[in-house]
Formats: sequence, C-alpha cells, structure tokens
Amino acid sequence: MSLATVTWIAGPVLHATRQGPFSLRESVRVGPQALLGEVVRIQDTSIVVQVYEDTTGLRPGIEVRGDGQPLSIRLGPGLLGHIFDGLLRPLSGADTKFVQPGMRPAAVARRHFEAAVQAGDVLAPGAIFGTAGDAGNAAGRTQHCLVPPACGGIVESVVPPGEQADDATVCVLRSGDGADAVRHALAMSQLWAVRSPRPVARRLPPLAPLVTGQRILDGLFPVARGGKAAIPGGFGTGKTVLLEALAKGCNADVIVYLGCGERGNEMAGVLEEFPTLTDPRSGRPLMERTVIIANTSNMPVAAREASIYCAITVAEYFRDQGLHVALMADSTSRWAEALREVSGRFGELPGEGGYPAYLSSRLADFYERAALVQTLGGATGSVTVMGAISPPSGDFSEPVTSHTKRYVKAFWALDVKRAQARFYPAIHPLQSYAEDARDFAPWWAEQGNGQWLTLRRRFLTLLDEQAQLERMARIIGKDALPARQQLTLLCAELVNEAFLRQSAFSEIDRVCSPARQAAMMKLLGRFIDLAEAALSAGAAPERFAALPCLRALQRMGEDIGDDQLPRFAELEARLEREFAPLTAAPGSASQEAGDETHG
Ligand code: ADP
Ligand code: MG
Repeated sequence: MSLATVTWIAGPVLHATRQGPFSLRESVRVGPQALLGEVVRIQDTSIVVQVYEDTTGLRPGIEVRGDGQPLSIRLGPGLLGHIFDGLLRPLSGADTKFVQPGMRPAAVARRHFEAAVQAGDVLAPGAIFGTAGDAGNAAGRTQHCLVPPACGGIVESVVPPGEQADDATVCVLRSGDGADAVRHALAMSQLWAVRSPRPVARRLPPLAPLVTGQRILDGLFPVARGGKAAIPGGFGTGKTVLLEALAKGCNADVIVYLGCGERGNEMAGVLEEFPTLTDPRSGRPLMERTVIIANTSNMPVAAREASIYCAITVAEYFRDQGLHVALMADSTSRWAEALREVSGRFGELPGEGGYPAYLSSRLADFYERAALVQTLGGATGSVTVMGAISPPSGDFSEPVTSHTKRYVKAFWALDVKRAQARFYPAIHPLQSYAEDARDFAPWWAEQGNGQWLTLRRRFLTLLDEQAQLERMARIIGKDALPARQQLTLLCAELVNEAFLRQSAFSEIDRVCSPARQAAMMKLLGRFIDLAEAALSAGAAPERFAALPCLRALQRMGEDIGDDQLPRFAELEARLEREFAPLTAAPGSASQEAGDETHG
C-alpha cells in the first residue's frame, strides 16, 4: 500500500507528496475518515487527487493511502430496485443527502445462487455461470452471474444452490496447467473499473428503434435500440418530464436513471415517484428493473463527474446479461459543469465556455458506449443513451450542445415557445432530427406500417411548409393565402394536435403503442389524401375545417386507447363518409355537405 502526504487542497482537488508508487486512476483513501478519491495525475514526487466527498476540514499533512486498484464499482445482483450516489454507494430511500464519509461501495446483499455449470465445464470470458435469485424481500428479477471479461477457464469447483453473500466465492475457474495454473474466484458480483468500457464480442448495426411510446419520437425522430439521443432544452421546457416518460414507457428491459447535478427538489420527484410506479408491461413495480443514480447539486462535485461513467458501466453490465438497457441522464450539462469546475481546480487552461479542451472527447467517450452488441457470452444486448442538456438561456450553440450534436444520431430539441403554449412534449419538429430513421422502415413494416417512411416524410414536409406559410400569413393575413396553402396549414395543424401532442399525465395517452401510432398515422394520411382530393374537386378549405371528424381526429389520442384499436377503423369509415360529398360531385358538393356532416 502506497502512502502520500497532502500538501495543498482546493475544493475537491488535492496535491500530495508521494512516498511510494501510485498509478493513474488508482483509488485512494484520504485522512482518518478514509474519504474516497482517485489519482488523476502523477508528477515526479507528487500526485494530484480528485476527492469524491466533502473536503471541508482536511488539512495539509494528512495521509493519502492507495488502494492498489483503479476506482471501481461492484456490479452485481444488488443493483436493481435501488438508489445510489455517483459512485454507486447506496442512498437510503428518498434521502439524497451525503452518504457517510468514507463509505465503501455498495453494501453486500445475500442472494440465492444457483449454478448453471459443473466441475469440468469450460467457461469463456463473459459466459453465464449461474443465476442470482430474488432473496425474499429484495426487489429485483433473477439475474445472470457472469464470468468477468478477463477470466475464463475450466470449472474447478462450484457451490451447491443456496443463499450466499454476493461477493462470496461461489465458483473457482482454473486456467493453465500445473505450475502455471491460475485460479479465478468468481462471485455473483464483480468489481469493475468505473471509467473502463466493458468489452463486447462485436458491435451490431442497430436496425430496430427503441420504442419510446412517444409519438413524436417514434413517428418522426426515432432513436435506435443501442443508439444515442440528446434532449436539449431551456429551463422548464420538459426535459425531466420527458425522460421520466421514457423511463416509464420505453421497451427497454432495464432502466438506469441518472440524476446528475439537478437540484435536490427536482430529483426528489423522481425518487419519490419511481418506487410507486407500476410497470405497464408486467404489472409489477417499475423499480424492480430500475437502477437510480443520484448526484444532486448539493452533493460533491467530483462525484458528479464520475456519476456518468458509473451509470453507463452499470448499463453495460446489464447489457452483458443479454438485456436491452435504456440510460437516461439528467443532465449532461451539469456533468460538464462539474468537469469544468474540477478542471479549473487542477489549474488547466479553460477552453470554449470555460470548459476544458477535452470536453468534446469526454462526451464522445460517453456516447460511444451506447451500442447494440453481441456480448462476450454470445447474447444480444444493448445500451441506449438519452442525455438531457440544459444550455444556459436555451442557446443551442453553446459548447455542450454543439459537441453533443456531433456524437448523437437523434436530437430532440425542446422549444421554449411550445412549452409556453403548453404544447407537450415541446419537441420542435423542425429543429429536431433522427439520422437513422430510414433504417427503421423495415421494422415498421413488420409492425403493419409499411407506409411509415412515406408518412413521416409527408408530416415533416407539412410542418416545414407550415412554418414558411405562417410567416407569410403574418404579413398578408391567413385568409389571403391560396386555398391549397390554407389546406396545408389545416393539415399541419392537425398533425400537431392529433399526433405530436401527447400528455405525459394522461392515463390513456402517456404511452402510445406502435400499433396505435401506426393507426393514427395512417388515419391522418388518409385525411390529407381526402382533403387534397376534395380540394381538387373544387371544395373550399373551410368545408374540411368544419367537418365533425376533424374534431374526432384531434382528440383521438385521448379518446382511443391501446385496447380499442378497432375504433380507428370506425373513425376511418366516418372520414370517408364525411368526405364523400366533397370529393364525389364537383360543384354540387356544397349542397350535400349539410346532410352528411351529421354522420
Ligand atoms: P425541465 O426539466 O426542462 O426544466 P420539466 O420537465 O421539469 O422541465 O417540466 C416543467 C413543467 O412542464 C412540468 O412540471 C409540467 O407541468 C410541464 N410539462 C413538461 N412536459 C410535459 C408533458 N410531456 N406533458 C404535460 N406537461 C408537461
Ligand atoms: Mg429538469
């Protein structure tokens, strides 16, 4: 064990003269309280340490002890259903105050272990060697126990089924023979260096979207399962509500929710609400497949910097079990601010916006870890990353937003004006994009929406035209626009109201299944077709605006739930009926419409 003596302290950073060797990224213990820290720089005779706890009261002269291993977290069956701080130390209940100074990572839980292998079996790195089951009251599904990535060999011994501490040796592997033999002790959990990505067999091209249940995302700006999305938005535009809606409604197996640097009262909402939620897929508590990592603004700043790595490492650990994981980070701006603050304490030269020059590469490192993969064990798993960004004064040209844009494929821009008009989710359809959208057309075709790409393009074109026409209408007045353009405005408005608008607080509408989205998209496409045909047949746009079915379409998200899909066919029949007199008989349309509109 190496020792060093503190010479200088500035906030979360300290310098110490070393008496022995330290390695970069080595975890250290500082002072009598054994505060957790990490070596971030090594100089001739000294080390620079970043401390993950409150350093008030520390003085020069106190001792720093090396742990002899990189800063690590314990990955194991005790994660699901629990709330942790930025270094994966358990927080109790809704308590976001500091963990005890110097506390060791994650408390050890007891679990029912059952081996899936026997003596003599040969195990490759990443293989599954058993299951860790639900031990009575502990929340969480049965989980696989994985051979750590660097191990592998022949099973020498394995314990019989029964309850075990999650760090106890349950299986011994041997690699090599005779005098060269190396033995690996495997437990249900494993230590992993927090900043190292977990290895995979290979990356796979992501061809399916992560189904979010949010129409504007799935319909217009889909993110891949294994993809990455950014959610930039000014204060109060709905980032947190959207991330929570995604956590509740997306089709991931495991949710890792990172509350990073937001104020305690905002995080409190998540901490109080999540444990009460029911998983719409299983009817069981949503927390059973959720891990929450919370580092609120009142917690030490360096731990916030580490929390993002901690969260993605946890996500990768579940991915390695062959699961699809969604990671929500709220917000990456607060993480970048922590990076900036710590960098300032190191005395590094500030770059753009005061952030260190490596901001961009750190963001890249983080988002790069999102992927659909074949795991070392041969299964398919994924990590999808969705990161909120809170740009100061909503300016998307600031460094965190602009660098993040380079690494994400989906960009969900929250708009202040939409939020002020209480149009939720306030995602701006013209400022947002999804680069992979074309790849998902086959997936949608399998869901019965072969028209998805065409309809998507059509909606986007309409919304784009709407923006231009509204500019013109402000100058010349809406009524002075030609009939075709008035129709464009009407249809664009309908797409907004009927499809893009979706309340996160509506029992029926907060999650929208792909089947329901497909039905709604098709119905809107049909309305646009019929309206265009009627216009060509000589009907005036005011006529469609007055059709009763228009109102029904605007309200269909709230009216027709996922369990009532046949009602969309009824609505379509009604649409056809109401339009019939407008399209069939040019010239005479105006007299007949009066009767038909009662249908
Ligand atoms: P941010 O995290 O961007 O600061 P919040 O997510 O806290 O903003 O949202 C602010 C408020 O806006 C919420 O308290 C809620 O009233 C409203 N809101 C945001 N998104 C939605 C939504 N999808 N549906 C309904 N209301 C919403
Ligand atoms: Mg928020």
